[in-house]
Amino acid sequence: MIRFEDVSKRYPDGTVAVDGLSFEVGRGELVTLVGPSGCGKTTTMMMVNRLTEPTSGRVLVDGEDVMAVDPVQLRRRIGYVIQQVGLFPHRTVLDNTATVPTLAGWRRGRARARAKELLELVGLDPAEFADRYPAQLSGGQRQRVGVARALAADPPVLLMDEPFGAVDPVVRERLQNEFTAIQRALGTTVLLVTHDIEEAVRLGDRIAVYGRGRVEQYDTPAAVLGHPADGYVADFVGADRGLKRLSVTAIEPGDLVRPPVVHLDDPLAAAGERLRAEGARWAVVLDGEEKLHGWISSARTEGAEGTVGEQARRMEAWLPVGAPLKRAFATMLQHDAGWIAVLDPDADHRFLGVLTPAALHEALRRSTAADSRAVPRQEVALETVHAV
Ligand code: ADP
Ligand code: MG
Repeated sequence: MIRFEDVSKRYPDGTVAVDGLSFEVGRGELVTLVGPSGCGKTTTMMMVNRLTEPTSGRVLVDGEDVMAVDPVQLRRRIGYVIQQVGLFPHRTVLDNTATVPTLAGWRRGRARARAKELLELVGLDPAEFADRYPAQLSGGQRQRVGVARALAADPPVLLMDEPFGAVDPVVRERLQNEFTAIQRALGTTVLLVTHDIEEAVRLGDRIAVYGRGRVEQYDTPAAVLGHPADGYVADFVGADRGLKRLSVTAIEPGDLVRPPVVHLDDPLAAAGERLRAEGARWAVVLDGEEKLHGWISSARTEGAEGTVGEQARRMEAWLPVGAPLKRAFATMLQHDAGWIAVLDPDADHRFLGVLTPAALHEALRRSTAADSRAVPRQEVALETVHAV
């Protein structure tokens, strides 16, 4: 969808901002450009919508050389969110949001209806916010308006220059999550600039790691974290890249531990026998519909009459398979639990297995090794030094 072919940019004063850039962004992909200040990220973006023009090489959008397209036409197809948001101070939130559709010649009623939809989508209730002015919003709300405005014309391509920079980390994470959900739903192709590797990893399908004027590595987050192309990228990505990997590594069924499973109406005596036979200290308890109920310890089965249901404990910590390992770890901490259940969201939340801290660690190691050998994670055999 966007293709850079050996693109260089030398500003009139001689500064070489971008030097021999070549990479391609697929349709519907979200690619993050990350690197230190001054390395050429903003210049790269501005060459896509011709706010600046390459000195050599070509930039193609949807197969067309941007230099052959009328800049005004080009910019109508390409949304742009800038770091300082750039809302018009004397226009209401609604009018700001409707700017591009209005410019594109939509009827007023249709443009305003679309703007309201978009405000709702980014979590700003039009009833409350439509008539406010930018000065009456918090930094985070202004950024939401900036995103809504850029999406209002439903552009196939969206350029975002540090769009979440002005908000605190908690709000930022929420905005990021909401934004990626919208982006996936609309299928928008996005180029997003950030200087924050954490953000680049969390949002990007692929990441372009910039050194001075050049892309040092262009790959998936997992590959950049697992296998930095060189010392520069390794330094930039940082020593805690194992931790960052947690947020980009999904729970796979093969990572799960499968403790014994008993059911609510099983007799306790039978459940106890199962546990002893398998040498397990606890079992997962499912209800009659194979849904997670909780767990039971072997101690609670001993010498007791009645059914498992009378002695079982509820367990509320669960995650869908495919969720990032980081969420699994966070959920364990939040529930103060030594394991969490993993369910299949596509099969009526059927119980698949559990994730323990050891299984989580192993999944992480396996995924790192799998990337370096370019094989599926479940084919990796680990050598493990077990704790005594
Ligand atoms: P980033 O967005 O990664 O911080 P920029 O693309 O803004 O980097 O800038 C890359 C380099 O080009 C920097 O050295 C910057 O000073 C320089 N630069 C940016 N815009 C201009 C300009 N209009 N004229 C001259 N130099 C510029
Ligand atoms: Mg910049």
